[in-house]
Amino acid sequence: MINPFATAKGQLKAAAETAKLDSDKIAQLALPDRYVEVSIPVKMDNGKQKIFTGFRSQHNNARGPYKGGIRYHQDVNLDEVRALSFWMSFKNAVVNVPFGGGKGGIIVNPKELSAGELERLSRGFVKKIYTIIGPETDVPAPDVNTTGQIMGWMLDEYQKCSGNKSMATFTGKSLDNGGSQGREEATGFGGVYVFEEVLKNKIGGIAQGGSVALQGFGNVSTFFAKAAAKLGFKVVAVSDSKGGIFNSDGLNLEKVEAHKKATGALKDFVGAKNISNSELLELDVDVLVPAALENVLTEENADKIKAKLIVEMANGPTAPEADVIFNKKGIAVIPDILANSGGVCVSYYEWYQNMNNESWTKEQVLEKLSKQIKQAFVDVYALQKQYSTSFRTAAYILAAQRIIEAMPK
Ligand code: GLU
Repeated sequence: MINPFATAKGQLKAAAETAKLDSDKIAQLALPDRYVEVSIPVKMDNGKQKIFTGFRSQHNNARGPYKGGIRYHQDVNLDEVRALSFWMSFKNAVVNVPFGGGKGGIIVNPKELSAGELERLSRGFVKKIYTIIGPETDVPAPDVNTTGQIMGWMLDEYQKCSGNKSMATFTGKSLDNGGSQGREEATGFGGVYVFEEVLKNKIGGIAQGGSVALQGFGNVSTFFAKAAAKLGFKVVAVSDSKGGIFNSDGLNLEKVEAHKKATGALKDFVGAKNISNSELLELDVDVLVPAALENVLTEENADKIKAKLIVEMANGPTAPEADVIFNKKGIAVIPDILANSGGVCVSYYEWYQNMNNESWTKEQVLEKLSKQIKQAFVDVYALQKQYSTSFRTAAYILAAQRIIEAMPK
C-alpha cells in the first residue's frame, strides 16, 4: 500500500534538492502544523447511534488561513488527510492565492446514508472542529463526495456553535447561500485553461483533435471533458467507481450524462464498450486525465501507459515510482497542484466576495480564473526550463519558494 504522505514528502525532497532550498524550512514543511482526529456520534434513522471518525489536518498557514476541502469516503485515513493538506499548501502557493493548506475527511460511504443522516453527520463534524476553523483561521470546502448542500449545513452549524455569522468560513457553498458564480465548474475549467497553455507551448506534441481518456465522471471530470470537447478534442473514455466506457470515435457527453442519471452508472451505455478502470488508464490516447482518487498510476502500470500527456485533475494520482518511469519515457505530467488548482482559486474569490460583501458575475470569475491559473502555468514553465526538470518538481520549487518567503525568519 502506497502511503500518500510519503509520496508528498518525496515530491518536496526532489524540489528541495533541485533548487537547493533552505533545509530547515523544508524540514518544517514536511510536517503539518497540527491535525485532529474526532469521533462524531450520529443518531441513525433506525434510532441507533453510530460513531464516525473524522480528521482535520492544518499543514501550513504562512501565506494565509489554512484552506482545503473535506472528503467523505470509506477509505479516508489520517495519512491521506495529512498528505492532502500538504498538497493544498503547495497548490495554493502555485496558483498564488493568500491561503495556507488544510484538509479534512470523514470515514464514511455517503451513498449508504439518508439525507437526514448525512446532515447530522456533517453538523456533528462541525461541532467537533468549530473551535479550530473560521474565516481567518481555517476555511474548509467540498472535496470528494461533498457538495454545496453539505457546506451549507456545515456553515449553519458553525454559525450556531461559534456565534460568528460570517459566510466566509466555508467555500464551495451553493449560489443561494453565499456561494460564488463559477465555483462548480472552476476545477474542471481551470484544468482546461492550463491545458490550453500546454497546447500553445506544444508540450507533449499534442494537437487539436487528439483523443482524451478521463478516469472519473464527477464534478471535475465532466466540466473538464465538456471544455476539452469544445476545444476540438475527442473524449473517448470516462469512468466511475464501477467501471468505464470507451468509444474510439468519441463519446456524446450529454447522452452519457443522461445515461448515468437514468441508470446510476456509466456501464452499458449504448454505442460504447464497457472497460475496467485499469484498461482505461492504459488506452492508446493522446491525453490521460486521472480525475478520481490518488495512487492510480503506479510502478505496476506506468510502463503500460501510452498517453503522451497526463493532466492530473485528481489529487496525488501518480506514485513516485511511476513519475520516474514517465520522466524516462518522455510523458509530460502536468501536476495536480497546478492542474486542479482552479477549484481553490475560485474558493478564494468566494471567500473574498463574502469578506467584502461583493458579488461577481460568472464571466468576471472565469476571466479572473483563466488569467490567474495561466500565470501559474507560465511561472511553473519558467522554472521547468530553468532547472530542466519535470513540471511537478518545478511546481514544487515555485510553491516552496513562495511559502518559505512567507515563513517567519
Ligand atoms: N477540494 C478542492 C481541492 O482539492 C478544493 C479545495 C478548496 O476549495 O478549498 O483543491
